[in-house]
Amino acid sequence: MTHNFDIVIIGGGILGTSISYFLSFLNKSKKIAVIEQAHNVAFHTSGRNTGKIHAPYLYNPEKKKLFAKAAFHGYGMWEEYAKLQKLPFKKDGVLEVALDSKGIKVLEKYLKWGKQNGLEEKDIELLSKEELKKIEPEIKCEAALNVHRDGSADYSEYTKAVMKDSKENGIKFLLDNKVTKIKKEKDKWTIILNDEHKINSNFLINAAGGEAMDIAHTLNVAQKLTDVHFRGEYWKAPQEYHHLTKTSVYSVPEYQDYPFLDPHWIIRVDGKCEIGPNAVPVFSPYGYNKVENIKEFIPKMLEMLGSGARKAIFDKQFQELAFSEIQSSMSKSVMIDRVKRFLPKINADKITEKGTAGIRSSVIDENGKFVPDVILMDSENSFHILNYNSPGATGALPFSAHIVNHLRELGFLEYDESDAQCGPWKFSDIIEKISVR
Ligand SMILES: Cc1cc2nc3c(=O)[nH]c(=O)nc-3n(C[C@H](O)[C@H](O)[C@H](O)COP(=O)(O)OP(=O)(O)OC[C@H]3O[C@@H](n4cnc5c(N)ncnc54)[C@H](O)[C@@H]3O)c2cc1C
Repeated sequence: MTHNFDIVIIGGGILGTSISYFLSFLNKSKKIAVIEQAHNVAFHTSGRNTGKIHAPYLYNPEKKKLFAKAAFHGYGMWEEYAKLQKLPFKKDGVLEVALDSKGIKVLEKYLKWGKQNGLEEKDIELLSKEELKKIEPEIKCEAALNVHRDGSADYSEYTKAVMKDSKENGIKFLLDNKVTKIKKEKDKWTIILNDEHKINSNFLINAAGGEAMDIAHTLNVAQKLTDVHFRGEYWKAPQEYHHLTKTSVYSVPEYQDYPFLDPHWIIRVDGKCEIGPNAVPVFSPYGYNKVENIKEFIPKMLEMLGSGARKAIFDKQFQELAFSEIQSSMSKSVMIDRVKRFLPKINADKITEKGTAGIRSSVIDENGKFVPDVILMDSENSFHILNYNSPGATGALPFSAHIVNHLRELGFLEYDESDAQCGPWKFSDIIEKISVR
């Protein structure tokens, strides 16, 4: 029997699940499904990240306005949602430290950006070395941004709660189902799951994270773009280090034009501490181990050499960066030393357990440049969200509401209700807050 749906969302990460949440309130009469290949939602990047609810100080308000707004409002929305669902949400702040005078200039820029993106005086302050020493004596740096409106979460639990709400509103979650083929038949999409079952849909939303680019290419979308996958690895700190600092610590990234940061000192929502992530180039969005990377090495290299990624591969700065990240994967002490620069007390010998790695997929354009922002592409009866990277988990709720509204503005979807109460929020209020003028 073939199942027919009005809308199919590919990807049960935090993005696809949150999109289903808003659709479930606005479109109660439509048949909507989320397809996820793993046995649960948030199995990949959404459940394998640093777990920070980021304040938007790292994002240039000119270049990443929508993302910055989503992060700003995402903080308040997750706070409210976590309270309703009785999920952990910790307002524990973050420190961004500068290790030299060049870094202090970057902090000044971040302070300005943070305020432009909505942070108030009470949310963010620039501290001198001496001021920081009084509150965090173990940290060594030249200056620090103390960001109070920043928090910690467990995005895996958040996504599961959002799925539960969506399901109660009638959304179907087809877990353990991989989309293996998509074809157009008589104005409808025929989607093959696990190479055997067939479903149909009028409209397709591609929120497939690290596979979103491959799915877009299958449908002849975004042919000039490609993506490169980076594995972010973590090391767990022993109990004796859990009280070294009160707050998580990030350092001003060495290479600011690349879409990832240097490893941080992380205090997770449960109080446990970790070091990470680095950003090691791998050959698959699921390249957690050697077997998967070896399997995908040749096809991914061929794809990259035939696209703009070729220019990135031969770029000297990128090569240096990739080399240093690979080194920090091969040698624990190289990785730990990157954090030891601002937290000298930590000793690599005492750190023995690996954390859970997560993979980001960054898009490269035809000129070999990393695309800094999220990419939204539409085609006939399909919509694609590419390059949905950090702080994607923070901004997932307001960003998803934006996507749902955008689909209506494009004329792709009509909703039963033009405005609705979506859980604790009125849909139009979210759209008003996140609209980019
Ligand atoms: C190391 C790391 C640290 C990060 N830290 C933070 C942080 O602290 N705070 C923050 O806000 N953001 C953080 N991020 C970013 C954030 O995690 C991502 O932006 C977000 O999780 C992306 O969500 P997604 O739903 O788009 O992707 P995903 O979580 O990858 O979900 C996509 C889903 O699609 C499914 N899928 C793909 N192809 C198919 C197919 N063919 N058939 C069926 N299913 C398919 C996959 O199985 C997957 O579950 C971090 C990212 C990384 C890598």
